[in-house]
Amino acid sequence: MGEDPASQVYVRNKKLACEYIGINSFEYLLPESTTQKELIELIEKLNNDDTVSGILCQLPVPEHINEEAVINAIDPKKDVDAFHPVNVGRIMTGNYDFVPCTPAGVMELINESGIDVSGKECVVVGRSNIVGKPMSMLLLHKNGTVTICHSKTQNLAEKTRNADILVAAVGIANFIKGDMIKPGAVVIDVGINRIAPKVLVGDVEFESAKDVAAAITPVPGGVGPMTVAMLMKNTLKAAEINKTK
Ligand code: NDP
Repeated sequence: MGEDPASQVYVRNKKLACEYIGINSFEYLLPESTTQKELIELIEKLNNDDTVSGILCQLPVPEHINEEAVINAIDPKKDVDAFHPVNVGRIMTGNYDFVPCTPAGVMELINESGIDVSGKECVVVGRSNIVGKPMSMLLLHKNGTVTICHSKTQNLAEKTRNADILVAAVGIANFIKGDMIKPGAVVIDVGINRIAPKVLVGDVEFESAKDVAAAITPVPGGVGPMTVAMLMKNTLKAAEINKTK
């Protein structure tokens, strides 16, 4: 909904990924003036459309729309972003079909790099519902010892310096400096911060961090493309689930 420039980029990348792997995608570009009722009616129509396997509403929505009501309106079996409370709850228990795309992408990067999470000190900076919290649960399911940090955390650098695996999801450009990282740590930078019209940087100061860390993800690149890939994976899963509905 509306004209958010970042949302437009994200939607375009998702559509391109669908096209690339052969998933039909339908875009409903709604004007800012759309009411919550109209938006939810559209979601309900898509919930009942058997040719649609997955639904996502690109966030943020304009202020007059209640984000929670929109998320709750999506059929949990078509909730490919995994934001519906049913899917959130299932992530807590470890019995889930869909995982929020960004934390899922981080786990895929860790797994594919042959990094064993079990027993490791994992520090997640950020506790949002979309990234920080589910990220922490996924690391916990892999037997990491997880510390979640946020804006009220005291002595943050002390916590981050203890991390074998450090995930930064703060939303502040270059927030984590090299001297906040344990030598040899794995550093995953979720942040996407636009500091100039064509300049994106992460939450980690790459230059000072890259020689301290054993492995580090870049921004742009790194986690961003993985998020889109995991959306495709969730959509495929949704197609399988809805086929047997
Ligand atoms: P939110 O703004 O929802 O959450 C940010 C978190 O950082 C909050 O929990 C906040 O704490 C914490 N925080 C803020 N300031 C500090 C501080 N000084 N010290 C420690 N913690 C702090 O952001 P998101 O989780 O949605 O996104 C985080 C970043 O990841 C953003 O840059 C976003 O653009 C990016 N992102 C990237 C994606 C990708 O595909 N790569 C996908 C989604 C997001 P508190 O809770 O106390 O306020």
